[in-house]
Amino acid sequence: MPETLVIGSNNQKKARELADILAGLPWTVKTLADFSPMAEPVEDGDTFEANALKKARYYGDALGLPCVADDSGLIVDALGGAPGVQSARYAGPECRDDKNVEKLLRALDQVPWHERTARFVCCAAFVAPGREPYITVGTVEGHIAAAPFGDRGFGYDPVFVPSPHEHTFAEMEPDKKHAISHRGRAFRQLRGYLEALA
Ligand code: IMP
Repeated sequence: MPETLVIGSNNQKKARELADILAGLPWTVKTLADFSPMAEPVEDGDTFEANALKKARYYGDALGLPCVADDSGLIVDALGGAPGVQSARYAGPECRDDKNVEKLLRALDQVPWHERTARFVCCAAFVAPGREPYITVGTVEGHIAAAPFGDRGFGYDPVFVPSPHEHTFAEMEPDKKHAISHRGRAFRQLRGYLEALA
């Protein structure tokens, strides 16, 4: 069935990362930048899965093409799972990465290292006309550092130390991050599914 596959994300960094993971498949992979601008869907689901499906269906329906989309976030055990599906908006609707990180570090101020356990979760959804949606989930376990380190990546990367490593995602080469990241894991599974469809 291979044809055009749309990556339904307006985040150019993320869309490029996903295009790299899906490169080499017998699909013509396009991002939203290849089409006329569209309003974004409201991410109001209670779960990563609901939001990923909503985005994939929204862009897939609008363009009439098979589409993949993801939803991801950070779950911190000491905060009862926050920021979770609110990760992008944790510090308020202005959604600035540095403000989100500041709020997280303040919330964990008195929490010792062994209780600063956390995980990134990514849910990827593939939808295509006439097919059941296909969903994958990837996670990476780690700890929240006491202060930001590194200037690569985005979001909470400067404070997330993946286990069993000693450096944050923001201190790692992108390839090293993608090899172990929640998004890398979810999309490599999806890649396997798309290969089998070919
Ligand atoms: P969304 O999946 O685009 O809705 O983004 C969710 C939010 O989770 C992002 O804005 C980041 O704050 C956070 N997040 C998701 N994945 C990562 C990652 O790989 N590194 C750092 N932050 C992330």
